[in-house]
Amino acid sequence: AEAVAMAEKVVADLREKCETPAELLREVASAMADEMGAGLEKEGGSRVNMLLSYVDKLPTGREEGLFYGLDLGGTNFRVLRVQLGGNEKHVVNRESREVSIPPQLMSGSSSELFGFIASELAKFVADEECANVLSNGKKRELGFTFSFPVKQRSVASGTLVKWTKAFSIDDAVGEDVVAELQTAMEKQGLDMHVAALINDAVGTLAGARYYDKDVVAGVIFGTGTNAAYVEKANAIPKWEGELPNSGDMVINMEWGNFCSSHLPVTEYDQELDMESLNPGEQIYEKLMSGMYLGEIVRRVLLKISLQSSFFGNIDHTKLKTRFLLRTPHISAMHHDETPDLKIVAEKLEENLEITGTSLETRKLVVEICDIVARRAARLAAAGLAGILKKLGRDGNAKEQRSVIAIDGGLFEHYTKFRECLQMTLGELLGEEVSKSVAVKHADDGSGIGAALIAASQSQYR
Ligand code: ADP
Ligand code: MG
Repeated sequence: AEAVAMAEKVVADLREKCETPAELLREVASAMADEMGAGLEKEGGSRVNMLLSYVDKLPTGREEGLFYGLDLGGTNFRVLRVQLGGNEKHVVNRESREVSIPPQLMSGSSSELFGFIASELAKFVADEECANVLSNGKKRELGFTFSFPVKQRSVASGTLVKWTKAFSIDDAVGEDVVAELQTAMEKQGLDMHVAALINDAVGTLAGARYYDKDVVAGVIFGTGTNAAYVEKANAIPKWEGELPNSGDMVINMEWGNFCSSHLPVTEYDQELDMESLNPGEQIYEKLMSGMYLGEIVRRVLLKISLQSSFFGNIDHTKLKTRFLLRTPHISAMHHDETPDLKIVAEKLEENLEITGTSLETRKLVVEICDIVARRAARLAAAGLAGILKKLGRDGNAKEQRSVIAIDGGLFEHYTKFRECLQMTLGELLGEEVSKSVAVKHADDGSGIGAALIAASQSQYR
């Protein structure tokens, strides 16, 4: 009984510290909008980098031809090929292949990583049914989705600012990732031209805009989190170059690095941060994205177990292993609808060697998942509200429709996260404004977006 009381106290404390009432979320949204402004004002003006993507025109639906895409972001990477029909026929054919990245490559050398990518790409191309698809002697055009902060100098070049998520390859920082890829492709004898370098948020925006002109932002909730949106070029004081004809510029926010005193940060988050590959950075991302949610829950469970015999007399080796409990596991437990929470029992046993749990124990574990996922979803909604605020689309809009395209495994698969995000955005915007704002799942924007931008770039070259 004492163990139960102790565990309940830990959870009650967590619940309180993770509270996100609407007033707090409004502060977060305002802070996000302010940071966006500060980041646009001058280089280094905000932790939210507000990087120029050099994408000044988004796909229209009229793009035509065969294009390739490469998507490197988290744990998998993908190669794809799309045939664009032009004239609003959209994608007439697409093929893709997903490959998981060997973990040792995430902390090896730059040439190993890019060598691996190029070799997989070369295999994909070699397997093409008709290898002579490009008989007109043109190089194959490739869009590269590279979902890490990059300082761009043009739409097809950019130097890596820093790694995030599980990547840490020192010799790549400060290097031009397109040049690295181009070199690796040449070594493979691959005759391809990198026409665009983007990230997954920009790709999601482009992929969704291709079908719907009311899309104003692309947002990712996957291994990490990020957002991109269309800004007026003349509203970017830090921009020194010539303004584009379109008058628009897609901004890659890198919002994962957002931080604010309003964020409800707990001891678990602080410890997670301190022991991470990038302490002090990506604070918003660490509260919210797929790489971290399971890890936060693990830390709470560990605390309970070390303080009490709540889980019985267990071996703590597994429970002490960082990142062993993954977000898909907490999602499965959170969605468990069996009367005796059988799935929770299974996940605890399989992953953490916690056996023989009572129903009461399982319920408490579900509650922890709920607290952590709900906080994440509500903070995510606040970020979206912040973007709408910056765009002046958070007030009563007459005939103006705003669509936010979202992609990423967390949003796609974690139903309770997705539902809570949508509900909370409605709560923040109010009934009237909500009618003109839509959140939609943009399936595979990040993959196809790069190919589309490669297409729209090459078309006007
Ligand atoms: P990336 O961000 O690496 O490009 P994805 O968008 O596919 O990749 O997102 C993968 C992330 O989504 C995983 O790291 C995981 O955290 C989360 N995820 C995947 N499946 C699930 C699931 N069933 N439930 C909850 N989260 C999931
Ligand atoms: Mg991705």
